[in-house]
Parts: sequence; structure tokens; C-alpha cells
Amino acid sequence: MSAPLIVLLPGDGVGPEIVAAARRVLERVGAFEFTEEVVGGASIDAHGMALTEQVLDACREADAVLLGAVGGPKWDSTDPDAPRPEQGLLGLRKGLGLYANLRPVHPSPALVGASPLREERIRGTDLLVVRELTGGIYFGDRGREADRAHDTCVYTAAEIERIAGTAFDAAAGRRGRVTSVDKANVLETSRLWRETVDRVAAGYPRVELDHMLVDNAAMQLVAAPARFDVILTENMFGDILSDEAAMLTGSLGMLPSASLGDGGPGVFEPVHGSAPDIAGKGIANPLATILSAALMLRHGVGMPGAASAIEEAVEAALARGIRTPDLAPVESEVPPMSDLPGEVAVGTEEMTDAVLAELQVSDEPL
Ligand code: NAD
Repeated sequence: MSAPLIVLLPGDGVGPEIVAAARRVLERVGAFEFTEEVVGGASIDAHGMALTEQVLDACREADAVLLGAVGGPKWDSTDPDAPRPEQGLLGLRKGLGLYANLRPVHPSPALVGASPLREERIRGTDLLVVRELTGGIYFGDRGREADRAHDTCVYTAAEIERIAGTAFDAAAGRRGRVTSVDKANVLETSRLWRETVDRVAAGYPRVELDHMLVDNAAMQLVAAPARFDVILTENMFGDILSDEAAMLTGSLGMLPSASLGDGGPGVFEPVHGSAPDIAGKGIANPLATILSAALMLRHGVGMPGAASAIEEAVEAALARGIRTPDLAPVESEVPPMSDLPGEVAVGTEEMTDAVLAELQVSDEPL
């Protein structure tokens, strides 16, 4: 069997640092063919656009795509015609037909102290956010006049059906519960969402379904996160709720994601952005990207054993007390991480070394 072809898209800010870290881990667990391409601000600088056809074609021909992050102040502009780094992400999602974004949230037992929530609140949390990725207000008609602007939210029943199918399939392999999040008391698209999800649910008699308004879901996620199994939601609600859910893990730097379509290459990337405030300092937490690489092995290239090995190595490194600065306690009166007994503050390279040191690689292909 030939080595899986992986396109690496480091992007901007901390992207190159964390993708390099994930590549080191991947090289330890298997043989891959890597090609590296530009996307986002880096592509705007090189080609005047955030995603070129050539890069999109390279991704189409790959087995999977591992992305860092895009964006940064250099490319911020209020000019609606200026190219924006995010267009690279949206172009990839559209171009590869990626409609399902999966974001597992399973706080590491070693990091319960890093979460801003009390331990008893987050204990037992193991949820999966399934976010629709190609519809809704991010893709609807928009416009701007002098002092008036509009963005339009559109969903079709077919778009809702396929993402609901992804969520119910995932729940069937987990604890068998889907919470569908909408704003059906106000939005017409949410009423279509609710009706359609009910219809899909009828085909999954062993999966329990409840509906929740998005404002309540935002509250429940911090009040009782362990009650959730699979959260199914539309594009913008999912964008916001999954960042909120990320904080249960103590840091945006811990949360991986997978974006999948119908059988073509998926895009695997950390949930966080390009962190321009710490770019180039060597202190970015690489774990969300390393865990995204694990998701890629599981969902993108059929190497579930290697995926589990990486996840276990990350957990073991954290259990040894290795921490990047973002995993430090949130209260300012707490002493700096390096002074805490048993915990060691490290940079991106050292955290990656710690994961590699814990990686159990057998002679057999994982
Ligand atoms: P961000 O996620 O980049 O950063 C938010 C905070 O989290 C910052 O303090 C940052 O230092 C910290 N952080 C993020 N990732 C970290 C990591 N791996 N290790 C340690 N700390 C980390 O969000 P932002 O500041 O709102 O956005 C910065 C840029 O990223 C913007 O241009 C935004 O458009 C872009 N962005 C890109 C993506 C993406 O590529 N998928 C997602 C969100 C934001």
C-alpha cells in the first residue's frame, strides 16, 4: 500500500510552529508523503488570494489535509473587496464539499485544574459538537449600503438532513443521545431545522433526541456539560458553542477538529486561530494540532491504532505535569506554573518532545 498523501497547510501566525510539531509526531507513527502549500494570509502575500486553484487541486488529490490556522492583524481590513485569510478556509470547505465539522470535547483528567470551571462541573464531560459547515448565515447573501448591512441565513432540508445523519450516526457509536440546538422560537430556518431533525431521528429509534434553544445550550454547556453526548447544530451557533466548549478543556490550545464530506479528503485542524499575540515565540500549545493529526489518522486515512497511540501519549505527557503557558491556572494570585510542584512549563518543541517520549510505537504498523 502506498504511503498516504497528506497536504500540510501551515497558514499564518502560530500555524507553521504547530503544524511542524504535528508532522514530527506523524513521522514517528507511520510513513506518509507530505506536501506543503500556502493558505490564508501567506497565500494573499504570495498570490493575492487566500486559496489558489492549484492548492485546492493539490488538496483534492490528497488523502487528507492538515491545517494550522489562518489570519492576523496584517490582513485585517474594513475594505469589503480586500482579500481575507478566512476566505481560504471557506474556499477549502466549499471546494472539498466539507459539510460536517466534528469537535470532540473530552477534558484531560490531568487538566481539570486548568479549566475555569470547577472540577465537579466538568467531571464526566465527553461530548461531540457536530456543526454544519457549508450553509447558514456565513454563506447567505450579504450586502452593504452606507449605513445599512445585511447577512442572510439560508438552509435547505437536504443540507439539514445530511448533517443530522452525521450526528445520529456518531451518537449511535457513543452514548446514544443527540441534542439539536436551534433558535426555533425566532428563526424560520430553525423551524425547518427542527422539523427535519425530527424526521431524521425517526430512522434512529435507539438514539434519544432533544431540542434546545441556543441561548439555553450556551448556559447548559457551562452549568452541566456532562449532560451532553452529541450536540448537533448549524454553522454560526456551532462556531460559537464549540469555542465555549473548548474552555471546558482549559485552553483553546487543546481542541482538535475534523471537517468531513462525502468520502473525499477531510481537513483536520485545531479549533483555535492563528494566535498572532504569541506567534514566533515558541510557546504555542501544539496539542490541538497533534490531536487533530490523530483525528486525521482515525477519520482520514484509516489508522485508528496510531490515532489512539497519539491520544494516549498526549494524555501521558500531561499526566507528567508538562504544560505550555496557556495551560497555567487562570487565577492571577496563583503562582506561575513553573513554581508549582510537579508541573513544568515548556514551549512548543519541549511539549512535542514530551509527547514523542510517551509514544508507544510498536514494530508493527499501528
Ligand atoms: P485565537 O484562537 O488565535 O487566539 C485567542 C487566544 O488564545 C489568544 O490569546 C491566543 O494566544 C490563545 N491561543 C490560541 N491558540 C493557542 C495555542 N495553540 N497555544 C496557546 N495559546 C493559544 O483567536 P483570535 O485572537 O480571535 O484570532 C486571531 C486570528 O486568528 C484572527 O485573524 C482570526 O480571524 C483568526 N482565526 C482563525 C481561525 C482558523 O484558522 N480556523 C479560527 C479562529 C480565528
